Amino acid sequence: TSRAADTHSTDPLDILQQVFGYTAFRGQQGAIVQQVTQGGDALVLMPTGGGKSLCYQVPAIARHRAGHGVTLVVSPLIALMQDQVGALDELGVSAAFLNSTLDGDEARRIERDLLAGRLVLLYAAPERILTPRFLAMLDSLHERGLLGLLAIDEAHCVSQWGHDFREEYLGLSELHERYPTVPRIALTATADDHTRADIIERLALAEAQLFIASFDRPNIRYTIVEKADAKKQLLRFLADEHEGDAGVVYCQSRKKVEDTAAWLKSEGISALPYHAGMESEARRVNQDRFLREEGIVMVATVAFGMGIDKPDVRFVAHLDLPKNIEGYYQETGRAGRDGLPADAWMAYGLADVVNQRRMIDDGEAGEDFKRLQRAKLDALLALAEAHDCRRVRLLAYFGEHSEPCGNCDNCLHPPETWDATEAARKLLSCIYRCHQASGFGFGAGHLIDVLRGKRTDKVVQRHHDTLSTFGIGADIAETQWRSVLRQLIALGHVQSEGEYNTLSLTDSARAVLKGEITVTLRVPSEAPKGRSRRSSG
Ligand code: ADP
Ligand code: ZN
Repeated sequence: TSRAADTHSTDPLDILQQVFGYTAFRGQQGAIVQQVTQGGDALVLMPTGGGKSLCYQVPAIARHRAGHGVTLVVSPLIALMQDQVGALDELGVSAAFLNSTLDGDEARRIERDLLAGRLVLLYAAPERILTPRFLAMLDSLHERGLLGLLAIDEAHCVSQWGHDFREEYLGLSELHERYPTVPRIALTATADDHTRADIIERLALAEAQLFIASFDRPNIRYTIVEKADAKKQLLRFLADEHEGDAGVVYCQSRKKVEDTAAWLKSEGISALPYHAGMESEARRVNQDRFLREEGIVMVATVAFGMGIDKPDVRFVAHLDLPKNIEGYYQETGRAGRDGLPADAWMAYGLADVVNQRRMIDDGEAGEDFKRLQRAKLDALLALAEAHDCRRVRLLAYFGEHSEPCGNCDNCLHPPETWDATEAARKLLSCIYRCHQASGFGFGAGHLIDVLRGKRTDKVVQRHHDTLSTFGIGADIAETQWRSVLRQLIALGHVQSEGEYNTLSLTDSARAVLKGEITVTLRVPSEAPKGRSRRSSG
């Protein structure tokens, strides 16, 4: 076509087709590209895999062709810069990065190209950009009208509330003060209101046009199971649904990563470990194998994943609870970037809840921050304990309304529920009575012993066998009591505190005790006494 012949076109669609070889923009890409190419500001919230890079790469080319010079891309990750520059190189786009991996000669060559206006895109980390030397180069470009666009990738790094906060991002507002007429585009895959407000405020983007893509990843099937024997459950999941597939298994600790990887290997699965405590060379080798070989299962801490672009990851499994829904969403979002069916699978249990709570309590953070972390954890627990569509809840968290998806465990196999009001009241009054009798709180094990009428040494010593709640829960198995307790914690009626994970009642527990609230819980799916509901499908 005539399109292919014209290598000077500044039309975004021409550029998309000629340079990138794609036929059409996806979703809001077209509108974003238009806004930025014309010189407007944009804030883009788009999930991982949504196609954020093109949102600034196409305008960069268009603006360079139109004589506006270079696009400066602020990026926090060296690996990501290298990948992007490599890919642009192959497409014949003049791009480079400046970071600590370059030697002096290479850096000087790139600086010469930059100042001569030859570069279309320059990637750099914020700490480098804010050096006097670098700013002097930008001044020189700007004076000559050759600073065409500022793109700020991973813009959520500017938010102190987020998990990726980077101090240096705060300095980026200086760029706008120095070059107020240069258009800006900020991009992130983190979508909660808090972070968004922070980005707008700290990067002075109040005037920018906001583009919020849907965060739905329809090809990902969400499944959350109750932990019974997590390793065996994982193995069954892998054997039944993902034989020979590439995937990631997230664990919380380095030790658990090592143990799980070794164990999976002994079960005949090509598993490799990855965590920040490993030698960097060993980490690199494992990462390379994951990217290049087929069917590798990476067992990793959250240190693994950011900036890793492997389209055919068929599953992401969690053996431990993430910190919050943003983390869960980001980690599970690494599955199925190619758009083909993929699984997000998680096993979670009472110990996870207790652990996460304790990590927050023991943290160094201030009270406000801890309160926010607890609220975020609660939202994740509510997702884990939900008996209705997981996707509806997940998207609702990001402010999106949706209908039941038909592609999550709860939609596919609606869980059995039971009226647990009576059981909940027994458990709550047991917590109350034991505390009242002894003057301090107790943990799950002891309380369940009292409920079930077990005369353990501790029960006898504390005279808890004389309480009115002793033995009132003998009809319910211990595993089911644990499930009830976990759900009551998730619902916010019970809280677990302190070094010994002692349990206490919250304000809402009173309403349950008074019979003002009924409690509907899911039947534990893996409890030995319950019948198994998990069918194939
Ligand atoms: P993000 O940065 O949002 O995670 P990327 O920019 O890495 O996403 O894009 C994800 C994948 O989608 C890449 O392989 C990219 O080439 C592809 N992609 C993006 N936009 C389009 C498009 N308009 N047409 C076809 N493929 C696209
Ligand atoms: Zn659903």
